[in-house]
Amino acid sequence: MKDTKDFKYKSFQCNHCQANQTKPELVDIMQEIVDKTKLTLYIVGAFRCKVHNKNMGFENKENQYIKGLACDFRAADKDGSLLTGQETIDIIDASGVLDDYKVTIHNTFIALEIGRDYERLSKV
Ligand SMILES: [Zn+2]
Repeated sequence: MKDTKDFKYKSFQCNHCQANQTKPELVDIMQEIVDKTKLTLYIVGAFRCKVHNKNMGFENKENQYIKGLACDFRAADKDGSLLTGQETIDIIDASGVLDDYKVTIHNTFIALEIGRDYERLSKV
């Protein structure tokens, strides 16, 4: 799978076993966010194999992580200062990139899930 300008495909591999079935469209969306916001984005978690997903507390639940359609990331501004989840989503919201996807704002990171018919940005 190819890298994009700002992302190595490898960054999306399973944190537990390095397996990687991340869908290209997820990487493309992350690249689009960078292109539109100029933020620096760090992937902290993405594809999960079944074992890792279970370890993360999703034993019997299907989710987008095991399909390669979700990732957790955090962001830094131009000066390299890390932003909170809320600061990050405020900037991304203004860019309009994520309107159709599910976004969960955590204190220090954002969880992005794509590939379902999400109606709008979801804030938790
Ligand atoms: Zn794994």
